[in-house]
Amino acid sequence: MMIRIQFKSRFSGSKTISGIQAQLTFPDLDQIQLTSNAQDGTKKTLQKAQITLNDCLACSGCITSAEHILITQQSQDELYRVIQENSHKDPDEQLEIVVSVAPQPILSFAAQCGISYEEAATRLAGFFKGIGISRVFDISHARDLSLEETSQEFQARYRSSQSGETGFLPLLTSACPGWVCYAEKTHGHFILPYISTTKSPQQIMGSLLKQTKPRNKSLYHVTLMPCFDKKLEASREDFVDQVSKTRDVDCVITTIEVESMLVKEGLTLKEVEPAQLDCPLTWRPLKNPSILTVNRGSASGGYLEHTFVHAAKELFGENVLQLDYKVMRFEILWLELLEAPNGLNQDLQEVTLVHNGEIKLHFALSYGFRNIQNLVQKMKRKKCPYHFVEVMACPSGCANGGAQLRGEDPKAQLAKVMQLFKEIQSQTPESNLHLRYLHNEVLVDDETRKALLHTQYHPVEKNVNSLNIKW
Ligand code: SF4
Repeated sequence: MMIRIQFKSRFSGSKTISGIQAQLTFPDLDQIQLTSNAQDGTKKTLQKAQITLNDCLACSGCITSAEHILITQQSQDELYRVIQENSHKDPDEQLEIVVSVAPQPILSFAAQCGISYEEAATRLAGFFKGIGISRVFDISHARDLSLEETSQEFQARYRSSQSGETGFLPLLTSACPGWVCYAEKTHGHFILPYISTTKSPQQIMGSLLKQTKPRNKSLYHVTLMPCFDKKLEASREDFVDQVSKTRDVDCVITTIEVESMLVKEGLTLKEVEPAQLDCPLTWRPLKNPSILTVNRGSASGGYLEHTFVHAAKELFGENVLQLDYKVMRFEILWLELLEAPNGLNQDLQEVTLVHNGEIKLHFALSYGFRNIQNLVQKMKRKKCPYHFVEVMACPSGCANGGAQLRGEDPKAQLAKVMQLFKEIQSQTPESNLHLRYLHNEVLVDDETRKALLHTQYHPVEKNVNSLNIKW
């Protein structure tokens, strides 16, 4: 028998494999037909393929590049539809539509428009409020909770490993859904115990808002994020409230989608009237927008920096005021020389704590799939020297997310974003006074804390179809 697979429409070309004769056509993305011709001449139409967000391999080749068409429930069109529908409801039945904004999209607009972080944030708030969104929140409280929880998790695992128990080190961060999705689908059972169970800031924000919203309100929660992978994260079954059957984050829109929304409204961000952001605890406008802050450390959340400083203090009594990042060299120079003639791999950096003459903490930033693959291979060969790794799928991390604005010169745009990030006032979770309220009033016991701040992961078996072909 022969198998013949033809890809039409989005794909082109054909392939013949010994076995049975079959034809696979893609007349349209939602219409996939597979028929087989056996040697006895009978013809059979095989089951129609179903592809959803959960099937994404996070390979950065499809959804992460621009397959808007596949993401029907997570798009600006869906947001406009909800806003439109809401405006026709009776006031007491209307949804409260709110947006939580991550810092990277604000930085991206600020760099693109040549304005300050604060101005970009308030103009974005003005834009959202102008199209029918009632509240706009900064996501920093959720980020600070995520940092605190990751740090606690690391210290617990480090202590366990020192006392001879299984500590599953290195602890690998979990805030990047591109990386988590890749880990679940590619290295499943091996890698998942090493990944921090702490939710990302997006998902903590979702849980908190749905938990603390005014009682009489039904919430529709939108987030503004730097990449399409955050849509995958929001669509995970783990983040669906089993009672109300609603998601903690109902819709994710990205930086470039907001840019196209502005175009649709005939505006540039600089033409939008600024408005105050709102406090996610009181739901009232912030009195002083200059209290907008970013985290210390990397522009991808600062997980390494926060965890390192606290582990040094709590585990070894060392006060670390400034971290000394060591940029590593590419291991296979000939492949990388064109990109970095000096041989330095900016996406792999290490920090160590030497205490009593011994390296006690060995942390790393590992960004981009090339470095991630090397990291996983080292772990599999038991040659990984690290205790903690901040893992991000995008080269240069979230500031360079797949849905950020690129401008005419993407490298120059990224450099501006990084520079702006360094200039903004930073805040540590310890100096965030609102966290005390959350600890005292919301995260009152271990069960609540676990439900609101932690998640779980699932190894995904490779999809083997009736032809026994692994796609
Ligand atoms: S590293 Fe990239 S894919 Fe991962 S969360 Fe950040 S922007 Fe998204």
